[in-house]
Amino acid sequence: MATIIKDSRDNSRERKPILIDRIDGIDSDVLAASLLPNEDGFISINDDRSIRIWLKRDTGKYWPSVCHYSDRIPSCLFHQPDSRRLFVGLDSGNILEFAVGEDYNKITLIKQYLAHTGRVTSVYNTVEHDWVLSTSKDKYFAFHSTDNSRRIGSYSINCTSTCVIYDTASQHCFIGDENGKITFLKLTDNGCEFKATLNGHESSISCLSWDAGRKFLFSGSYDKTIICWDIGGQKGTTYDLEGHRDRVQALVFVTLTRQLISGSEDGFIVIWDMDAKRKENPQWKESDFCEYCKIPFIWNIRGMWKQRTMGKRQHHCRRCGAAICDNCSQSRASIPILGHEFEVRICSQCEPKITNDEKIPLAQFHDSKHSILDISYDEKRKYLLTVGFDRIIKVWDMNSILA
Ligand SMILES: [Zn+2]
Ligand SMILES: [Zn+2]
Repeated sequence: MATIIKDSRDNSRERKPILIDRIDGIDSDVLAASLLPNEDGFISINDDRSIRIWLKRDTGKYWPSVCHYSDRIPSCLFHQPDSRRLFVGLDSGNILEFAVGEDYNKITLIKQYLAHTGRVTSVYNTVEHDWVLSTSKDKYFAFHSTDNSRRIGSYSINCTSTCVIYDTASQHCFIGDENGKITFLKLTDNGCEFKATLNGHESSISCLSWDAGRKFLFSGSYDKTIICWDIGGQKGTTYDLEGHRDRVQALVFVTLTRQLISGSEDGFIVIWDMDAKRKENPQWKESDFCEYCKIPFIWNIRGMWKQRTMGKRQHHCRRCGAAICDNCSQSRASIPILGHEFEVRICSQCEPKITNDEKIPLAQFHDSKHSILDISYDEKRKYLLTVGFDRIIKVWDMNSILA
């Protein structure tokens, strides 16, 4: 059923992900998966209601050592290797807590949290505070004590909350939602306190990651972009990362090398250098006519009448923000320093001014050859797992890139 197709560790000198294992023939949709640290294996949740632990056998094939069927479809998982705990959110709104056996040969249900009234969309466990954090289709964020499964606090989001990330040091919690907003809360043993709403995405937020060192928050969205929020700087500084052509589905920040890994439905794994200096994008200017040739834009009826001319569509230069017409912005260039890894529109005045430094790529692109639904990373071995919409799981050796 599940087979190893290729073992190409010999090529590991190339600076690209090396496909170590390809697990196919899985008989149901894989909804999410998490690599086991220091073990050739992973945990998956599937839409046939199963929670499986897959281990690589001597034959080189992966087989489930655990295949536990729950009453309802699991919708998200969080594996806490330090405490050997596995948290699984269900489409009923409940969260199951399992103890994972030493040899990964069994899981034992130890607790159930009546956390939500709708599908749990993400679950997160912090050992330091003995809390389990969760988001749900019921439009609530909630957190519970793992000591006694008591609810400590909850916060109403206006729509489906989709993902959550937590910073232990500051007890700050960030909740992504379907409307593209991020709710920023402070959690304490008495409940939660609202800090701010972060607006920037045009579509549902699918994933969040956190750089504890620099206090950067990363959000991935169905709008195909990633935003890097400088939370520690406290000035509202943001950096855009545009390098995907489809929905961003998963993000992992690699602390050791200060790289951000993103996976998308476009099939690409992108490795972003987060040590690189980036600039904030310019504000888009507002004007009723092209700033260069003065031709009115289509809504400027009076200008059109005065000049006896047809109005033109408004565009913006991605480098300086000028409001210009198509004629005055015929050039295209990638500007990685502003997060544009792909070519974007630039105005006729910026074209001769753009420097080579501005054009240096700050991300690496690797085609995983399947549309990515989820990723998981094992920092010790530098292995990356990708879950595809094609019921295939791939394990990649990232040692040559994440160095
Ligand atoms: Zn113009
Ligand atoms: Zn410009």
